[in-house]
Amino acid sequence: MKKTGALILLAGILLSVASCRAAPEPERKTEAETTASILSPVQTLETTADDAVIVDPANKASGAYAYDYPGITPVVAAAPADPYLIYVSRDYALPANYEPALQVCVSIYPEKIEMEVTAAEQYKAMYDAALTDGAELVPFSGYRSISRQKSNFDREIGSYVSKGYSRTEAVNLAAQSILPPGCSEHNSGLAMDITRPGVWDTREDFDTTKEFTWLQAHAHEYGFILRYPKDKQDALNVIYEPWHWRYVGIGTATAMKASGQCLEEYLGITN
Ligand code: ZN
Repeated sequence: MKKTGALILLAGILLSVASCRAAPEPERKTEAETTASILSPVQTLETTADDAVIVDPANKASGAYAYDYPGITPVVAAAPADPYLIYVSRDYALPANYEPALQVCVSIYPEKIEMEVTAAEQYKAMYDAALTDGAELVPFSGYRSISRQKSNFDREIGSYVSKGYSRTEAVNLAAQSILPPGCSEHNSGLAMDITRPGVWDTREDFDTTKEFTWLQAHAHEYGFILRYPKDKQDALNVIYEPWHWRYVGIGTATAMKASGQCLEEYLGITN
């Protein structure tokens, strides 16, 4: 009995020591693993009520949508060989179960703005380089979950319904200012809205700042492109957004910079 008691005591001590130790640092992912995690979205379909609403139960594997918005019928974007070239727009939605691995981009700010891991690391490298040159690329809006996109979209629809519009009219009006769930590049973790010190907002006059000038010269060196340029309105069907920068990888961004193409032109997509 005495021996058993001592063993139990020893086990208790060992357990308490183990529980006091800090949790081990998560293993750092290689780029290949990060890529794999993008191509195979984490299966967390049942984790939130919102996800359960969005995903079509009959087509879980494809990540097809069950949402019912009259007139809004995007196709589910196919996973490209290069995951950083996934095409997201009003007509191409991310799979509803798409969940990139995330990382905070620049930790010095109180707002912990995240992007997909590789995009976040490149953003930080770009941020540091720009700062050395006297430009501060303040991260304003990065990753946004599909569930949150849905909440924002539904709230906007609700506000129009409460003003007396039919649901179809309300959906159409809401879609003019907010993209439907899965249709925003921010849902992919590959887009960042950038602002400047002292301006906590996205403004068109961002293109008059030294931050914008720096980005135009150097963003491609870190894999970022200006996603919605002023001179590509016909190809884009999206307003000019000098603040919205998209990660596509250094090779692609450099090629696009050389050819002067926007993403639609580069991928051969016509709107
Ligand atoms: Zn944006």
